[in-house]
Amino acid sequence: MIKLNRYLLLALLFATFTITSCDTEDPADAVKKEEQQEEEQQEEEQEENEEEEEEEETEANDISVLVSKFYNTEALTITVEEEYVIIESGNLPDHKSMYYDQSNDLYEAYDEPDNPDFKKNPNSIEVQDFVYKIPRFPVEAIQKETTPMGPMGVAVNSVAFFNQQAAPGDDILDELNTFDQYEGHPAQSGDYHYHIEPVWLTEDELDKESFLGLLLDGFPVYGPEEDGVVLTNDDLDDYHGHIGATAEFPNGIYHYHITEDLPWINGDGFYGVTGTITQ
Ligand SMILES: [Zn+2]
Ligand SMILES: [Zn+2]
Repeated sequence: MIKLNRYLLLALLFATFTITSCDTEDPADAVKKEEQQEEEQQEEEQEENEEEEEEEETEANDISVLVSKFYNTEALTITVEEEYVIIESGNLPDHKSMYYDQSNDLYEAYDEPDNPDFKKNPNSIEVQDFVYKIPRFPVEAIQKETTPMGPMGVAVNSVAFFNQQAAPGDDILDELNTFDQYEGHPAQSGDYHYHIEPVWLTEDELDKESFLGLLLDGFPVYGPEEDGVVLTNDDLDDYHGHIGATAEFPNGIYHYHITEDLPWINGDGFYGVTGTITQ
């Protein structure tokens, strides 16, 4: 009786073992399967990478299409190179200013109405020799750079865009009181510039939705309106731009907008990889 039970038990154990071992795969097979899966994964990743590279190539816009928009040709010489657009600028506004020398045809006296703090600064407009070397195919920077003091870009009429900061020791909100009839002013070396909306361009020469110029990273700057809507800082990212279609880039491009409120033209720095400027 006991013996029989033992045989039974053994038989049962054997049966269980065979069943389970049938379920378990041959270890060699398992390794092969794993290798196959890895290979498939690697292939997939490679394909994804290739797709991404292709996307980047097609996404980078050629900004040389904007060259013809720089209309103040008396103060501008532009050369399109393979990788860069070179803009040489005399930085001379094509509109009247109280900061031109009185002998200049563009001199016009001005006194800002209703602003008791209005004052002229002691500088006057002088021709500059700025050379902007701007990436022709702008791309987003991984590490965003802050904008420099001095020129950070150039408007279509040759005038420099400055950021939202005043020279060290000065307050930008105080400096607003020194802006001329077209909202610009010259710094110490006679370099005239805009910190805020260049109303000569947005209200006289062009309009509120127009392309107004380039920042040093090659991304374009547009006026304060888009599709008839006035934009605010809330519509824009930290660098003061967004991606979308524009008149010149119907397939979409990153672009900055000028808004009425501080920081006006640029926010926390350049969105793209920057070129260089010599002055
Ligand atoms: Zn300034
Ligand atoms: Zn936009």
